[in-house]
Amino acid sequence: MTALKGKTALVTGSTSGIGLGIARKLAGQGADLMLNGFGDAAYIAELREGLAKEFGVRVAHSGADMSKAAEIEAMVAATEAEFGRLDVLVNNAGIQHVSPVDEFPVERWDAVIAINLSAVFHSTRAALPGMKARNWGRIINISSAHGVVGSANKSAYVAAKHGVIGLTKVVALETAETAITCNAICPGWVLTPLVQKQIDALAASKGLSNEEAGRELLSEKQPSKTFVTPEQLGDLAVFLCSDGGANMRGASLLMDGGWTAQ
Ligand code: NAD
Repeated sequence: MTALKGKTALVTGSTSGIGLGIARKLAGQGADLMLNGFGDAAYIAELREGLAKEFGVRVAHSGADMSKAAEIEAMVAATEAEFGRLDVLVNNAGIQHVSPVDEFPVERWDAVIAINLSAVFHSTRAALPGMKARNWGRIINISSAHGVVGSANKSAYVAAKHGVIGLTKVVALETAETAITCNAICPGWVLTPLVQKQIDALAASKGLSNEEAGRELLSEKQPSKTFVTPEQLGDLAVFLCSDGGANMRGASLLMDGGWTAQ
């Protein structure tokens, strides 16, 4: 699979979960990778070496904090310095906080908006000039089913994910006459550390086992009653990078097990 050979992909929040799943699929198409996200040095070294060996691509890592504009700019610059280009930008890093609005800690609101929404602006702003100069690019923003519908107690997350869809549309319009596209992917429940925390909270509050809490979480929202997988989301990202995806612009692509069809 060599569709992305010679291209470079930067996937934010790719040391875990969905970002890692997408990074693996892009590497599977031959893309060199700039990983980003938290993790101790030994884990990140192992991840880099493992991906490089498995897919025969070059792999670097930036520890940039997605809540800090200057670090995001430096990460994009480091990608272009290391690989000479940045062709595919996947804005994936995200956090969650669950609390009613009137009890929502202001500091958590600011952090969720910074990492889940403002970071998408900062990385896009920094990556676009290079993409325009090379007249090719793919910007893929990971929104959520919560970019389309709300859920109680997730005000900051839902606001940020709706915002990502709006920003995606504007970037798509501003690049509509170029070979740069910008789209959003909107997953339903995916079993990652971000969701495991919510399963743990449900299990603790209702005295359920891990499996029972997982089933209850799914049955509340997701008609398929199965988790979407990082691999399935990675396949969709690969499609958006292909020639077949060249005229998808400003779309919000739901992969949510039927969540928002209800
Ligand atoms: P995860 O917790 O498994 O991974 C999050 C990644 O982001 C990690 O690599 C972490 O190190 C990184 N990260 C967190 N804060 C960061 C920061 N300040 N700076 C840099 N990196 C940071 O989460 P996930 O479930 O894989 O979520 C990935 C994205 O998918 C998020 O945007 C999330 O909102 C979205 N999403 C997840 C689900 C789901 O069910 N898991 C559903 C819809 C959307």
